[in-house]
Amino acid sequence: MKILILGGTSEGRELAGRLSGDDNLSVVVSLAGRTQDPVDQGADVMTGGFGGVDGLFHYLRTNTINLLVDATHPFAGAISRNANEAARRAAIPLLRIERPQWARMPGDRWMDVASDEEAIAALGVDPRRVFLAIGRQHVPTYLAAPQHFYLVRSIEPVQAIERFPRAEQILARGPFVETDELALLRGHAIEIMVTKNSGGDATAAKIGAARTLGLPVIMIGKPAVETPNVVTSVDEAIECVARIRRSAGY
Ligand code: NAP
Repeated sequence: MKILILGGTSEGRELAGRLSGDDNLSVVVSLAGRTQDPVDQGADVMTGGFGGVDGLFHYLRTNTINLLVDATHPFAGAISRNANEAARRAAIPLLRIERPQWARMPGDRWMDVASDEEAIAALGVDPRRVFLAIGRQHVPTYLAAPQHFYLVRSIEPVQAIERFPRAEQILARGPFVETDELALLRGHAIEIMVTKNSGGDATAAKIGAARTLGLPVIMIGKPAVETPNVVTSVDEAIECVARIRRSAGY
């Protein structure tokens, strides 16, 4: 049985590693290629994208893939939409792993928004000291509000960082722990945080730190992508793969 895992997440990596131990499975992990030095995936890796939904469909067909697993990040909406369409056209099952989003807890001061543009509006006009924890790609959007100081944390450098009048960049890869997050927020006198509701444990510590300090958090909600066969953990995904395998007789 041939499985293509669309990855770029810890879940994709863990699933690939666990499935690769089975000699009857052929597993390939696909990465977009955004990270220069990705961590080992425990399986064969292809990098750089497919060229849209047609390219992904073509890949599924020519490589006789039997199961497509969409383990991409909750905010990677385009690749998930392509996965839905390509799997439908290729008439193969699609399994989506999506970690639960973070839920608001007592003491949280969240402002829910749907986009970076709404987050910028929520920051307001008066200059503030902002922890911008949204990854790298959409940071340049915040050039629209240059009055704020931005502490930007991402795995890879942000190209436009020098165009911000007041910004500091930190390069780091999670998991992060709350004591370090508290020190970071205090050390930079952060007044407000902007983040995406990505869910998962690796980057949740900043939310706890904001709660401890009573800081407001502008929480960007995830894009809506309707996918059948959604599971919320790697364990569930393994069970689902076993069921698909049994019913298809692989
Ligand atoms: P996106 O906007 O949904 O996808 C844009 C294009 O990137 C896709 O059309 C596809 O190109 C390519 N692509 C994305 N994920 C791919 C994958 N796993 N394998 C092959 N091609 C992929 O994606 P994104 O938000 O830029 O995220 C890119 C990658 O980073 C994903 O693997 C995601 O899991 C990971 N990631 C994203 C975030 C986030 O906040 N968005 C956070 C952490 C990790 P083609 O059309 O050429 O196939």
